[in-house]
Amino acid sequence: MTTSALAGKGAGPNRIQNAMDKPAAPTVFVPRRASASNSYDVIVVGSGASGGWACKRLTEAGLKVCLVDAGRQQSDANFTEHEPDFKLKFRNMAPEVIRKTRPVQKDCYACMEYNYDWFCNDIEEPYTTYPGMPFSWQGRLRVTGGRTNVWGRVALRFSDWDFQAASRDGFGQDWPITYRDIAPYYDITEPYVGVTGMQENIPWLPDGHFQPPMALNCSEWQFRTRVKAKLGRTATLCRSANITRGVNGRAPCHYCGPCERGCITHSYFNAYFTTVADAMRTGRCTHLTNAMAHQVIMDPDRNVARGIRYIDRITHQQKEVYGRAVALCAQSFESVRILFNSANGQYPNGLANSSGVLGRYLMDNIMGGGAAGEFPSLNAIAGKPNINGPNRPAGLYVVRFRNVPGTARSKDFIRGYGYEGGGGVDFNWGASGFGEEYQRGLLDPVNTLSMGGFGESLGHYDNFVEIDPDVRDIYGIPVLRFHMKYRENEFAMVQDMAQSAAEMLEAAGAKNIRTHARPSTPGWAIHEVGIARMGHDSRTSVLNKFEQTHDVRNLYVMDGSSFTSGPCQNPTLTIMSLAVRACDHLMSEMKRGEIA
Ligand SMILES: Cc1cc2nc3c(=O)[nH]c(=O)nc-3n(C[C@H](O)[C@H](O)[C@H](O)COP(=O)(O)OP(=O)(O)OC[C@H]3O[C@@H](n4cnc5c(N)ncnc54)[C@H](O)[C@@H]3O)c2cc1C
Ligand code: SF4
Repeated sequence: MTTSALAGKGAGPNRIQNAMDKPAAPTVFVPRRASASNSYDVIVVGSGASGGWACKRLTEAGLKVCLVDAGRQQSDANFTEHEPDFKLKFRNMAPEVIRKTRPVQKDCYACMEYNYDWFCNDIEEPYTTYPGMPFSWQGRLRVTGGRTNVWGRVALRFSDWDFQAASRDGFGQDWPITYRDIAPYYDITEPYVGVTGMQENIPWLPDGHFQPPMALNCSEWQFRTRVKAKLGRTATLCRSANITRGVNGRAPCHYCGPCERGCITHSYFNAYFTTVADAMRTGRCTHLTNAMAHQVIMDPDRNVARGIRYIDRITHQQKEVYGRAVALCAQSFESVRILFNSANGQYPNGLANSSGVLGRYLMDNIMGGGAAGEFPSLNAIAGKPNINGPNRPAGLYVVRFRNVPGTARSKDFIRGYGYEGGGGVDFNWGASGFGEEYQRGLLDPVNTLSMGGFGESLGHYDNFVEIDPDVRDIYGIPVLRFHMKYRENEFAMVQDMAQSAAEMLEAAGAKNIRTHARPSTPGWAIHEVGIARMGHDSRTSVLNKFEQTHDVRNLYVMDGSSFTSGPCQNPTLTIMSLAVRACDHLMSEMKRGEIA
């Protein structure tokens, strides 16, 4: 955080409370002309994981959709996965150049010289934090497809061990849905997305419709086999949205590696060339690019949403589009920001916020614990390893083994974590000696395997976002202020991640094991969820079980902000599946005449 806006303004809690008492940015209902050219059945805000699915589902059912997206049009011509570093001006070696405009976005491993202009300019679009509470809001994409352009593609299902966790350990609230409610929607999204994976028959990480698995390498096989035999834990190919068989004209992956720079063969899942492209092909989707939505237009007399007000990012003009329903899919923070900035006389603390929990219960997976080790014995068995092997774009995943059936309850924390990692061949950076001796040693490759945990963070009322009354972005839109910290439960998990990773590596026969246990800054997992949570009770939740706001019948929020808890599995497959389910509910409401 290097600019004053990013670092926070030092505002104390009292001052903030006063600001919350006033409407953040009054929404005036201006009855402009809704004509055939600017009126639609549904306005979808955001073209990423959730918005892409919403557009596809609704248009393929025959509805007329306007896709309002802050990003510019993505194109295959921007994809650079086969470009070598030496073609770049700074050889991909000058992060400080990127940090001039993207000091936060550059924290993200996927933001590089190849693609940094896909990310928002942090100086133009700042946010603030409470003093002493850093938050890294990474992955703010400004191209069609949103974060799915650069995501890590780990695609895991949730289970009832997640949805009903509160009933088991007493913390928080159960989700208003069970696995039976969402399973049919995983069955829709998963085969279309294309997920390579292995069936494992583990109830708390349900199997799905997998494409044939990419192969594990030697160290990973050894790790998988020995860890299962000695500790009963499962290490499997990370279920990943990369295809090994053609799907809908997309070619199988050819293992070149850097998917976050795009993929001209369309072999990973990116909403730009899948769901959004399908919606456009129907002829019923109008795509407004560079359109920064900031308010839901309300009809206060009927308590219905009428459309979206947005700023054209090129001209900075304010414009409006109208619809029978509005679906916010702009990524958790942006959707909630729009709701806060739509406060009006009826909803002075934010639209659809009669419960007062809008912005509350912010969660992001905790990271920072793990270990790495070497497998020198494999050189003797498999021969000298080759450093030029294929670049498999899916890693290894160790399935959660804490606080699940058949294990003793952890004394130190509730919930659990899984590991992402992988084995591979690397230079022997730890070789001894200097000069020529070191160079020779360096070229003696080593088999390594490393792993890092992703743990559930608990939803606390006091972890929240709100509007900063003093700071606006370059478009004049009030920005978010963050108040988030991890607590004892997450810290204990990080310690356990490190110890258990070392234990497993040892069981697998690794040498030279090194552990790390330093809790990540909130935001680093880029899995932020909650803040407009679903629930049965309109007094304690913003959305019902169909992601429809309790307060405004024709207003839905279909992204990760709907999550009632933040399980350790990566969220996006669930975000997409819930969005499809929400669309089906929206259409049934329309058919029944509940939404006119
Ligand atoms: C580097 C990286 C790695 C990741 N790895 C994984 C992973 O392995 N597995 C996993 O499950 N998840 C992963 N994630 C998270 C995943 O990408 C998100 O959970 C997912 O994309 C969220 O979907 P979404 O539809 O809510 O938002 P997005 O996909 O981000 O789409 C949001 C869209 O809204 C638009 N938008 C934003 N604000 C506005 C506005 N005000 N007006 C109009 N449009 C707006 C944006 O332009 C964008 O198109 C990763 C993310 C990153 C950045
Ligand atoms: S590794 Fe596969 S999915 Fe990724 S960019 Fe290369 S071909 Fe595409």
